[in-house]
Amino acid sequence: MRNKGRYKEGITTTPVITFDAGQTLVELDLDFLGRRLAERGLEVAPDALSAAAPAAWRRYDELVAAGTGHPWRALMTTLLQGAGVREVDPTVEWLWSEQPRVNLWRKPITEMVDLARELARTGACVAVLSNSEGRLAELLQEISIADPFTVIVDSGRLGIEKPDRRIFDHMLAALGIAGADPIHIGDSWAADIVGARDAGWRSIWYGRGVTPTNDPRIASAPDPAAVRAALVAFGVLQR
Ligand SMILES: [Mg+2]
Repeated sequence: MRNKGRYKEGITTTPVITFDAGQTLVELDLDFLGRRLAERGLEVAPDALSAAAPAAWRRYDELVAAGTGHPWRALMTTLLQGAGVREVDPTVEWLWSEQPRVNLWRKPITEMVDLARELARTGACVAVLSNSEGRLAELLQEISIADPFTVIVDSGRLGIEKPDRRIFDHMLAALGIAGADPIHIGDSWAADIVGARDAGWRSIWYGRGVTPTNDPRIASAPDPAAVRAALVAFGVLQR
C-alpha cells in the first residue's frame, strides 16, 4: 500500500495538498478571546493573555505528548489563570461549550495561507482536512481565507475524524482525484501524520516541537519556510 498512488513516469497528475486547520492555517486569537471574556464581564489586562500564552502552550504540549487529560481545557485554564482572570473553571466550560459556535481558533497563520494560495496558483488541488466542530467552512469564509481551497472536509460534519483513514479517502473522493500521491500538512503527529501515513499519503509535520523522522515520506517543518522547502523537495513547488 505504501506506493499506492505514486507518480508513474510519463504520467502527469494534479498534485493534491491538504491542510489541517487548527495550529496549521489558523491559531488561537488572543484578542478575540479577550473580547469574549469582556462579554462575560471578565476584565483582562492588555497583553496579559499573550504573556500567559507560552506557559499555557507548554501545558498543552505536555498533555498531548502524554496522551492524557483534555489538552484544550488545560490550555485555556493555564492561560486564564496566568492572565489573572477570575472564575476560571466556569469560564473555561463556557468557552468550550461555545467553541462549536464561536471558534476561538480564528487568527490566520498568514505564511501558511500564502503557501496554500501559491499552491492553488500552480494549479494544484488544495483542500482543508480538519478535525473541527462542523462550522469550519463558515469560519474560513468569515476570516477571508477560504479562497484557495477546493474542498473543506470538516470531521464535525462528516462524522469521521483523523487519524481514521476513511476521512483521507473521503477527501480524494470529494476532490474526484485518485493516484496523485497526496500530501497532508498538519501539526498533530497522532491525527495528521499517523492518519496520512496509514492512508498511504505523504505528509509534512508542521509546528513548534516537531522532530525529524526517518521516513522519507514524512517531512518535519518547524516553520512555514520549512514547509515550503518540503513542498519543493516533494516536487509540487518550484524553488
Ligand atoms: Mg491542528
